[in-house]
Amino acid sequence: MTKRRATISRLRRREISRKQQRDADTIFLNAQIITLDNRRPRAQALAIEHGHIVKIGTDREVLSVAGKDTQVRDLDGAAVLPGFTDCHTHLVKYGIELYGANLRKATSISEIQSILRRQAEKMPPGTWVLGYGWDQEKLSERRLPNRFDLDAAVSDKPVCIYRVCRHICVANSITLQLANITRTTTPPIGGVIDHHDKTGEPTGVLRENAMDLLSSYIPALDSGELRKAISFALRKAVSAGLTSIHCIVDQPQHVRALQAMNEAGELLARIYVLIPDDWLASAGEIGVSTGFGDEMLKIQAIKVFTDGSLGASTAALETPYSDSPDTRGVLIHSQDQLNSIIESASRQGFQVAIHAIGDHAIAMALTAIENARLTVPRSDKLRHRIEHVSVLNPDLIRRIKQARIIASVQPHFIPSDPWVPARVGHERAKFVYALKSLLESGITMVGGSDCPIEPINPLEGISAAVASATKDYGERISTQAAVDLFTKNAAYATHEEKLKGTIHRGKIADLVVLDRNPLVVSREQIRKIKVLATVVGGRIVYASKRFQTIKASNVRHRLAQTHS
Ligand SMILES: [Zn+2]
Repeated sequence: MTKRRATISRLRRREISRKQQRDADTIFLNAQIITLDNRRPRAQALAIEHGHIVKIGTDREVLSVAGKDTQVRDLDGAAVLPGFTDCHTHLVKYGIELYGANLRKATSISEIQSILRRQAEKMPPGTWVLGYGWDQEKLSERRLPNRFDLDAAVSDKPVCIYRVCRHICVANSITLQLANITRTTTPPIGGVIDHHDKTGEPTGVLRENAMDLLSSYIPALDSGELRKAISFALRKAVSAGLTSIHCIVDQPQHVRALQAMNEAGELLARIYVLIPDDWLASAGEIGVSTGFGDEMLKIQAIKVFTDGSLGASTAALETPYSDSPDTRGVLIHSQDQLNSIIESASRQGFQVAIHAIGDHAIAMALTAIENARLTVPRSDKLRHRIEHVSVLNPDLIRRIKQARIIASVQPHFIPSDPWVPARVGHERAKFVYALKSLLESGITMVGGSDCPIEPINPLEGISAAVASATKDYGERISTQAAVDLFTKNAAYATHEEKLKGTIHRGKIADLVVLDRNPLVVSREQIRKIKVLATVVGGRIVYASKRFQTIKASNVRHRLAQTHS
């Protein structure tokens, strides 16, 4: 006991003497600090202590808080911004993809085959070979792969490969046998099993709900594998400059894996978990609501679906699709169901993040939030958000503003979705991805990727928001506004605008170091900017080779240099 007290007091003494010396842990000098804080938009240097920004100013001003143990880094003119936040990812799914075979870059079926062959060699007998991200539009053969293509690559292990959209998969013969899919199998409602024209045998191509025929056979990753998979995804994320990630989960073991990683100190970036609405009752029972967790891992919001996607013509529109006049898309809930979910989430103190893409779905989401504002007074303080908000019109924009809803957008959909005018026609297309209209009406807009569907790199998102507007759809915004989506606006979405999102004294040291300042380079150059380092709570979680060569110098040496 005495011994323990002695240790504590020694620690306290050290703590007190540290404070008196005002020693910073780290100082970045000779940088272009872009604070995103209007009171002081630019600075030259900053100091970090105990994970917080303790001083901002000129090199000389900031060096005044240097002590003998301070790590001083001369950034040689690099740009420092608040770390980026991605407000819409499926991070665990992305990790699982990275754990499997990556087929995103495949340009031919034979390339897919050799990737699968290599993957199969790494796996022990009996395990599944899973691949993700192929797109027949990119394959020289311009056709879907089939079971025979896969059999030629891997014939002794079950194989299943998913198209980039995840609406189609292809299985090899072993997989079809395991799942007992034959020429006579009836596909589930909403699913299609492709058959060979002549033989009638399944080709291995399973569409939409027919993919469910495999799900009970594909083994889930065990907890160790899951952690490894999430680590892969996190490493990609921090190397892209992300310091905070909103992570949509749909399985309890994903939350358990994140929590285990948090305990082990393996979370490289802050994680905000969005949980499915069917967990609402159990969360309510134990009193979990928005903000539950700690500074690295938080339960943030309830994710609710109202419709599908524009790509699959399942987003709910007010009037039929222009290219398929027999459908207006699908609805996941009735208005009454949606109202009751949003109302009970609000009552429990949960922010809601409502997936709504079609104009009809957005109107329903608005009605549900408007209803909750009337019945649950605290609802307004929860900063509810609508995810995607794709097909808009002036009336919907007015209602979003009126109800103070956060518009959570994914600018990279603009370059990825050239089929928008075909799907919805030219009139409606004008208000698809209407970033500028949302911005100009004063709505708080936050940015995300929807990774793994789109690249997790926020600079790609920023670049898409400023540069890839077409005349038919997708509005362009300024680089400054686009950067705000992934930084200070994102901090508002988690009620943390006082804690992060800008570079300000007292805020947490979540930073990204870039080789160039995105606010001054041309729009075309933004996506070519390199991330040199990523800092989360003062800890360098990613350092490029170039950054590693910047040796942290001895401060006395440094002081001597500046004085001479
Ligand atoms: Zn998504």
